[in-house]
Amino acid sequence: MRIEQDIKLDFGDVLIRPKRSTLVSRSEVDISREFVFPHSERRYHGIPIIASNMDTVGTFEMADALAEESLSAALHKYYGDKALLSFFTARAESPPVFYSMGITGPDYEKFVRVMDSAGDSIHYVCVDVANGYTRAFIRFIHKLRSSFPKITLMAGNVVTGEMTEELILDGVDIVKVGIGPGSVCTTRKVAGVGYPQLSAIIECADAAHGLRGFICADGGCGSPGDLAKAFGAGADFVMLGGMLAGHDECAGEIVEVDGIRKMSFYGMSSREAMTKYSGGVAPYRASEGKAVLLDCRGPVLFTVREILGGVRSACTYVGAIRLKELSKRTTFVRIARRFDEAHHPE
Ligand code: 5GP
Repeated sequence: MRIEQDIKLDFGDVLIRPKRSTLVSRSEVDISREFVFPHSERRYHGIPIIASNMDTVGTFEMADALAEESLSAALHKYYGDKALLSFFTARAESPPVFYSMGITGPDYEKFVRVMDSAGDSIHYVCVDVANGYTRAFIRFIHKLRSSFPKITLMAGNVVTGEMTEELILDGVDIVKVGIGPGSVCTTRKVAGVGYPQLSAIIECADAAHGLRGFICADGGCGSPGDLAKAFGAGADFVMLGGMLAGHDECAGEIVEVDGIRKMSFYGMSSREAMTKYSGGVAPYRASEGKAVLLDCRGPVLFTVREILGGVRSACTYVGAIRLKELSKRTTFVRIARRFDEAHHPE
């Protein structure tokens, strides 16, 4: 047994310190980014925020709505071949929509089938496992990369610099970072495993950028300020589940509670998801996600504008005219009492 003594931080442990700035208005700030991916060599331009591939959030409707503001979505993996074909063949390449999959044999076979028919219209792929530290995951990444050299590959999740480097060297363009921070994730409670998300972003971004790779900070953002902190810490992309849940474009079930319309949202490792897709929780495992009911929040674009406004505001406070400059201009101040606790005393 070993104890790491360095303090690791979550979004709630810090604030961004304001800096002198010549910017007059938030409207001067450009929050789009341009990247060239190391393996696919594809050029990206857009606002680097991605809807999570959770089944209630990563829907076709969400992808279409977010595209209006140049944001992206990772589709959930439960769409059938036909639906995927008609979606991808009918849309433009930019902003990217990610085809998502796990690492099972059927996941791979389905991807090969869909690529055979729609290969020219699918350029971005997300390989998503709860634990990106297994040999099976690495083997899958090798197989996928050698069969599909031109796809832009996002894969994870991991939380440490050495595994980020390994994945980039193995063929991943964007490493997905986050174990345990998700709003409906219970891994920290159930397994005692995880890593404070702000520190994970800082360490993984540093590792990725040294190899010309990129990271996507996945999970734990509960407010626009958390996205600003994630970008300030070095994230190239940020993935959102809970902040985009409960909208018209989502696929959660709607129920009425005391006359108020609510929408369900649950973790993809929750009992609810496992019952829906795998016939229940297998006897040897525990669920690592929970289910919640959210107020219905209307069209997602209103929320998106709030989020983008918050990120623009952060850029103005530190004098970053482009999102690209935010991390260079970010100094975090550690705070004695967690920001979220200070605001929501319970
Ligand atoms: P949020 O933005 O809601 O804080 O986090 C979304 C992320 O939580 C997802 O993109 C995914 O990585 C993670 N996640 C989703 N469902 C589960 C789950 O059931 N268990 C765990 N451990 N993580 C989950």
